[in-house]
Amino acid sequence: MVNTNSVDAYKEAVDLMPGGVNSPVRAFKSVGLDPIFMDKGKGSKITDVDGNTYIDYVLSWGPLILGHADERVTERLKEVVEKGTSLGTGSLTENQLAKMVIDRVPSIEMVRMVNSGTEATMSAIRLARGYTKRDLIVKFEGSYHGHGDSLLIKAGSGVATLGLPDSPGVPANIAKNTITVPYNDTESLKLAFEQFGDQIAAVIMEPVCGNMGVVPPKEGFLQNVRDITEQHGSLLIFDEVMSGFRVGYYSAQGHFDVIPDLTCLGKVIGGGLPVGAYGGKREIIEQIAPTGPIYQAGTLSGNPLAMTAGYESLAALTEASYEEINKKVDRLTEGFREAADKYNIPLHINRAGSMVGVFFTDQEVVDFETAQSSNLDYFAQYYRAMIEEGIFLPPSQFEGLFLSTAHSDEDIEKTIEAVHTAFSKIEK
Ligand code: PMP
Repeated sequence: MVNTNSVDAYKEAVDLMPGGVNSPVRAFKSVGLDPIFMDKGKGSKITDVDGNTYIDYVLSWGPLILGHADERVTERLKEVVEKGTSLGTGSLTENQLAKMVIDRVPSIEMVRMVNSGTEATMSAIRLARGYTKRDLIVKFEGSYHGHGDSLLIKAGSGVATLGLPDSPGVPANIAKNTITVPYNDTESLKLAFEQFGDQIAAVIMEPVCGNMGVVPPKEGFLQNVRDITEQHGSLLIFDEVMSGFRVGYYSAQGHFDVIPDLTCLGKVIGGGLPVGAYGGKREIIEQIAPTGPIYQAGTLSGNPLAMTAGYESLAALTEASYEEINKKVDRLTEGFREAADKYNIPLHINRAGSMVGVFFTDQEVVDFETAQSSNLDYFAQYYRAMIEEGIFLPPSQFEGLFLSTAHSDEDIEKTIEAVHTAFSKIEK
């Protein structure tokens, strides 16, 4: 595979930006490759600057549930861009997306738009603290909620990929307000609440973890967290930045029928443009300025292009779209298992909606510890072989694969063939 343009672009970039990238996992460090520089995407495919085309399971890390450059989105964007890129006032596109989000996300009665998932979680935490007048928060080990100080403790995603300890620069005085417990472990959560319950403002969680690879909740776990937080007067925040509009038409909370107090969104609701949002019970959200005293603001929040991309993406999705994607996920996961059996590769697959986690382990993966039992050497070998076969996957064991409505049955069959080739080459 020719990659000379990517190599040249990387050589230039590495002098301009740390690691040559603007977000750490794009550096491909854990799979031993130089970063691939992409040029364009269309549907389920992405093409690099050397002209190699891949079936894409990264989808810009989740947002592109319709695939790349869906015309329903891009055509509307062309119209909207002609009317100005930012208005800095209330606008009709904001109302449109807000209504759609309120309609589809069961916990959201009122919403505030921001520009990224990180902003959404940071703001939701501030709101929870201001509303409950408590300081402590609880998060789960291996979850990633963006890079806000309070949340960058025992984090997943790039932090886990690079094997980094908790980040320097987060003051100890802030870190001490974050309690971490293992995911899917009700007993540990109960213990934390027995000790600190009356000081805990909120539990923030990914209802389906996607940043230690994909790890769904055990039966009853989400309801247990809901019950425990309610008993102690703490808020429950679902960080659905990744799972929102991906795990199902009504997001993970609709799928599992557990309703949090606050919900954070991002990725899919921006349709590939920078958007985040947080919302929830009216009574709580109204504590945000200007109706309440808790401050949060944004120059480009509710940007018309971002609102339009989000709205058109959500408008294109029906309940049937999710069923269709689910069938493709069924076939893909079945194909992975067949290949693993054939080539005697230890494999555990988790899935939730169109999020898929592939782990090279015999253990059931239910939390960060078991996710870490995956054989990272096998992962790196498999990763490099898949690239050679024209399949673009997230370059980290601790990220999930995403599917889109644009992935065809043919894409899935090609991918399964590639998995067979990759597994056949793994040196044990
Ligand atoms: N929360 C979750 C669950 C995420 O997966 C991410 C990003 N992967 C974030 C928050 C942060 O979002 P952003 O990168 O848009 O700041």
